[in-house]
Formats: sequence, C-alpha cells, structure tokens
Amino acid sequence: MASKVYKYLILGGGNAAGYAARALAARGLGKSEVAIVSKEAVAPYERPALSKAFLFADPPARLPGFHTCVGGGGDRQGPEWYAENGIDLILNEEIVAADLAAKKLSSKVGTEFGFDKLIIATGCSPIVLNKLQGADLKGIHYLRENADALELYEALQAHKGEEVLIVGGGYIGMEVGAAASIVGCKPKLVFPEEHVMPRLFFQEMGEKYEEFYMEKGVQLFNHGYLCDAFVGDENGNLTGIKVCKDDKKETLTGKLCIVGVGARPNVQLFRDQVEMEMGGIKVDGKFESSVKDVYAIGDIATFPLKMYDGKLTRMEHVAHARQSAAHVVDALFNSTTPDYDYLPYFYSRVFSLSWQFFGENAGEPILVGDMKPKMSAFWIKDGQVNGVFTEAPSTEDTEIMRAIALKRPSVDAAKLSTLTDPDEALKF
Ligand code: FAD
Ligand code: NDP
Repeated sequence: MASKVYKYLILGGGNAAGYAARALAARGLGKSEVAIVSKEAVAPYERPALSKAFLFADPPARLPGFHTCVGGGGDRQGPEWYAENGIDLILNEEIVAADLAAKKLSSKVGTEFGFDKLIIATGCSPIVLNKLQGADLKGIHYLRENADALELYEALQAHKGEEVLIVGGGYIGMEVGAAASIVGCKPKLVFPEEHVMPRLFFQEMGEKYEEFYMEKGVQLFNHGYLCDAFVGDENGNLTGIKVCKDDKKETLTGKLCIVGVGARPNVQLFRDQVEMEMGGIKVDGKFESSVKDVYAIGDIATFPLKMYDGKLTRMEHVAHARQSAAHVVDALFNSTTPDYDYLPYFYSRVFSLSWQFFGENAGEPILVGDMKPKMSAFWIKDGQVNGVFTEAPSTEDTEIMRAIALKRPSVDAAKLSTLTDPDEALKF
C-alpha cells in the first residue's frame, strides 16, 4: 500500500522537474496534488551554472541564486515557492524501485509513493571510469550535481597554480578546462579525438577553439590520447594519469583530475517496464511513454523530432528540458495540444567566448570568419542550410540563426564559401 498517492508525481528534482512544477502551479492545482521526489538535497536549479559562474566567478554563483526558473525568465523557485504553491518537495529521497503497472515507486529508506500520472525526469549520470586502475583514488572528480560542484570548487581553489588534469574534450572538458584556467590552475585537456567538441564541431572549427585555449595556457593532449589509468601515492591520493597514444604510454602529473567522458540516462528502474530507444524512454509527441499515464521529459526522453520527419532523438540540453516540461503539462491539461516541435539548439560559454548552434550538424561544413571577433559555420545538405553556428552572436544573429534552421533555405554553397564576413553570410 502506497503511503501517499499524488495526482501528479514528478520523479527527479532537476531542470525539467522545476519547469514542470512551474507549469503545474500555473494551472492552480490543489494542495498536495503534486510532488517532486529528488535524491538531491536542494530544490531544482539551473544545472548549467555548475560548470560556469559556480566555479570561477567572484563571488561564485551559489544557491539560492540559480534555482529554476531564473534561466527561463521565471520565478526563482526556492523551497518556500513549493510550499506556497502546495507542491510537496521531497528531497534526499532516492527512488530505488518502480512498479509502473501498480503505479508505485519505493525509496531507499522504504517510503512508497503512488501516482495517477507520473512524470519521469531523472536526467543523466556521468559515465564513470571505474574500470580503470586507480579509479578510487582521492582527487578524481565528476560533475553533475550541486554537491559535486561544491567539492570541485574547493579542489580547484586548493590546487591554484598547479597542473590539473581534465579527461574529455566535450562540454564538461571545455567548460571546466576554461574555469580551471580562470581560477589560476594549469589545465591539461586529454581526449582521443582530432579536435574538441567532436560531436558538433568539424576540424577547422575545433582548431580555432584549440588555438584560443592554448593561448590561455591550456595544454592539449588529443589525436588519440586516451586516459588509461589513474596513478596515486601510498596515501591513496592522485598523482597523475597514465595516457596511451598508439603504442606509446606516458604519465601526466597532477593531483586533481576532472573526468567528463559523457553521460548516461538514469532509466535503469524502468528498463523492463517501458519501451526504450537510444538509451532513453521512448515517448510520443506529448511525452507519453508506452505505459499509460507515464511520461518522460528532459535528458531521458527519446522523442520524435517533428521538423525532421519524426526522426527519434535524445537531447541532453537545458532548452529541451525546459520546453519538454512545459509541453507535457500543456498536453496533460489540453487534448488539442499539438505534438512537440523542437528545434535543436545548443550553446556554451567558455572564457570570453560564447557560441550558439541551431539545427543539425549534418552535411558539408563551411566556416566563415575567424574566432576574433566572430565566426559562423553552416552545414549544407542537399543544397539547403541544415545547421548554423555563430561564435559571439548578437541577439539579432540568434533570431536569424533560428529562422535559418527552421526554414532550411536553399543556398549556393560555392558562393557562401567565398564569404569572409559572418554578418554577410548570416544574411546571405
Ligand atoms: P537533471 O537536471 O539532471 O535532473 C535529474 C534529477 O533527477 C536530479 O535531481 C537527480 O538527482 C534526480 N534523480 C535521478 N535519479 C533519481 C532517483 N532514482 N530518485 C530520485 N531522484 C533521482 N545544457 C545546456 O543546454 N547548456 C549548458 O550550458 C549546460 N551546462 C551544463 C553544465 C553541467 C555541469 C551539466 C551537468 C549539464 C549541463 N547542461 C547544459 C545540460 C543540462 O543541464 C541538462 O540537459 C538538464 O539539466 C536536463 O534536465 P533533466 O531534468 O532532464 O535532468
Ligand atoms: P560529451 O559527450 O560532451 O564529451 C565526452 C568526451 O570525452 C568525448 O569527446 C569523448 O570521446 C571523450 N572521452 C571518452 N572516454 C575518454 C577517455 N577514456 N579518455 C579521454 N577522453 C575520453 O560529455 P560531457 O561529459 O562533456 O558532458 C556530460 C553531460 O553534460 C552531457 O549531457 C552534456 O550535454 C552536459 N553538458 C552540457 C553543456 C552544454 O550544453 N553547454 C555543458 C556541460 C555539460 P568519445 O566521443 O570518443 O567517447
């Protein structure tokens, strides 16, 4: 017997959960009809802050400053906001078992929760290099939650002026690498691919960012460098990492290592109960899963991209977390809600740089301009612009890029590639 049954139960207390709570509160629900159950100790917050102003700003960003929904222009929803809106915010409560047919979740401490409708928003966890030798040494950090970021901040402060090892050349590697450099550490970025951000950037583009990082004193170990093992001293403290490239092995020294080698959706509780695709919970255009009354939003949702003929995708980005949360609540209350129509959008901010991307990075890539002061990239597929990127976009550029990615205009690729001014290219 469930101890408490909620009309709307949100599992997970991250970005998507905070925005779903906001949308539910806007519908004026009664007291205790909605609950959030989260294993974190704090109310939902804007997770992107953790790898940026949290680590290097002076003073650093701290809660309650970045609770949702400040990033989306909404209220700052601290614990008092949930109380005022009649939403039960149940923190420090990890769900360890789920019975979707019986509409019941059970927590680690034995609490049971029932639901009429369940919104799963459990996000991702970092991929942990736990098979590598030395994986349990002190000084190895992963970054996902507020508690991780607090520890990482202290560690960066403690290792100012020292070499810091960063494994991974994706989002975490780039953003934490920049933060480490800003606070006065000497970062070494280790990753196997030819260039940074390999899933989005192409070679020429990646190299521009690499040049910028090197000018800032960041050392790069890429083109095949893999972290092979962690090494430590007799007290269990990290002293370096072993890297291998081809047949060559060497040890890079450092007492602090941050690993950012990707993330996996937290869906293991539901694996045999609901249809899965691409590592996530498969949902329709209203975010309903294959199990009635069970919905999935944010990083864990594998959803159809309407603008790309229903192609399935998963997005590990905050714009989708926010929009999917608003959409699922809209669909729950309104049977005429259309299917989710998401335009893929990514962004990052590192050092003084800031980029945005819209669309798909498939097709022939064309780079226009140089990093300083500005550059744009276009991906041309079947004669149409399929994806568009700009470093240092203005507000107007953002709107132009959004329109380009939505309309996918035909373009003369040969002519576009002769341009040198991004402003001219964006209006081409
Ligand atoms: P999360 O925000 O991860 O929330 C999941 C929640 O579920 C967490 O509170 C977790 O503790 C909880 N949970 C999981 N399992 C259980 C369980 N069994 N029981 C109870 N609770 C559970 N995206 C961008 O677009 N731009 C950025 O600049 C950017 N920066 C980022 C920086 C960092 C450091 C990280 C880690 C991510 C960043 N992202 C960024 C990605 C973005 O934060 C995520 O896409 C977004 O947070 C996804 O929201 P979500 O609600 O699906 O998952
Ligand atoms: P990414 O997938 O962006 O990057 C992981 C990188 O690590 C890849 O380049 C990967 O290479 C490399 N790698 C894998 N194994 C090794 C190894 N043994 N040694 C060296 N390099 C290795 O994941 P992140 O960890 O950076 O990000 C985690 C999550 O956080 C994602 O969901 C991301 O979207 C989110 N995030 C988003 C931000 C943003 O949008 N601005 C900012 C920060 C985080 P390969 O591909 O070959 O495996």
